[in-house]
Amino acid sequence: MSTHPHPADASRAEVQKERSMQLQKELIGGHYDALAMAQETGRKVVYTFVPGNLTELLRSFDLLPVLPEINALQSGMRKLSAGYIAEAEKQGHSKDVCTYVKCDIGMLKKGNIGPTGKKLPRPDLLLLSYTGCFTFMKWFELLRQEYDCPVAMLHVPYQSAGHIHPHHRDYILQQLRSEVIPQLERVSGRRYDEDRLRAMLRLSAQAEDDLVRVLESAKQVPSPIDAYFGGVYYIGPMFSAFRGTDEAVEYYRALRAETEARLAQGLGPITPEGSLDKERYRLVVEGPPNWTSFREFWKMFYEEGAVVVASTYTKVGGLYDRGFRHDPDRPLESLAEYCMGCYTNLGLPTRTELLESYIREYQADGFLINSVKSCNSFSVGQLLMLRQLEERTGVPGGFIESDLVDPRYFSAANIKNRIESYLQMLEQKRTEGARA
Ligand code: SF4
Repeated sequence: MSTHPHPADASRAEVQKERSMQLQKELIGGHYDALAMAQETGRKVVYTFVPGNLTELLRSFDLLPVLPEINALQSGMRKLSAGYIAEAEKQGHSKDVCTYVKCDIGMLKKGNIGPTGKKLPRPDLLLLSYTGCFTFMKWFELLRQEYDCPVAMLHVPYQSAGHIHPHHRDYILQQLRSEVIPQLERVSGRRYDEDRLRAMLRLSAQAEDDLVRVLESAKQVPSPIDAYFGGVYYIGPMFSAFRGTDEAVEYYRALRAETEARLAQGLGPITPEGSLDKERYRLVVEGPPNWTSFREFWKMFYEEGAVVVASTYTKVGGLYDRGFRHDPDRPLESLAEYCMGCYTNLGLPTRTELLESYIREYQADGFLINSVKSCNSFSVGQLLMLRQLEERTGVPGGFIESDLVDPRYFSAANIKNRIESYLQMLEQKRTEGARA
């Protein structure tokens, strides 16, 4: 979930046209500046994770969020992660540990300089929203050893049965009221202000409507967006530190207007080399992207005319396209439902159903699984998913392997080879279908 450098930076003419890119750059840059100044300005800082984050609640206390996964992926894009991972392994962290964690620990050991080159502040609180991935817990245990600061834990029940039970919501509400909010009051020195929270949630819902419109524009043939490589930029502000702000509303309004303009003109998505004008394959992708060779990876798709029309990775911070909205009339209840609804908190059958519906609704020619070595939360069960999806939809699946931020596990030649053969197979199937 990243934001800059933007993929379309290579195409200057496009950049000038796309106001949203500039807005996003300012948003992120401003946030890292505020973090770098936090000590001078007296702002308090909370480290927390992307899935199930409580951004509006934190901001209602004037707290500044830091998302460690975002720092790790940004370091990956800037080719810094290999050095950080090596540092963490030198300190004894095993090769099998999630590389986001090692990247973060290595960055910390090397001075905690954030992605924009400015130092990140120490946390005043570690807020662990525990949604589906056990590594989150281990990660914050390591950070607590480093920082010796308070920890607030929000235990989010896993959605194993594919729906939210009322007692699950009540369990989260009780933790918010008795554990999380009192901790935020202590750290910030402010009282909980529900009206302020409601106002922020109202802004969130507005931006969420616009994001959904952007993601769903890919139902049109040809799609005006790439919902994976482009999609990770579109979800950046929503999934991280900016929900509930006027700036995020402005960003999504601009993004929606630009997308609708492309839609109306029948244009394809923007790539680092300009507009993709001939959509040849429509794909659904499961799994996170690789960040260390992000552009090279993307190029393997767009140079073949392959456009990703829907992806599950763009749902790690919420399934807004399935109807969820933050709700100012039910502030804490909707935060609780939000935490439970993130993709990493869903069981395998629900994930498979989601993919199946994407393949149908977005008229996909194929679906591809990028299985990342680091992330058990994503990778477990993906081969079973592949088989079930092929059986249910008759659409052929492809399988590639890489990693999030460890360049040792991105084998460009192998991946390119696999993608090309997979697309050729789709082409052949299409030709046979036309003949039959
Ligand atoms: S294992 Fe996966 S979900 Fe868990 S922290 Fe690592 S990347 Fe995130």
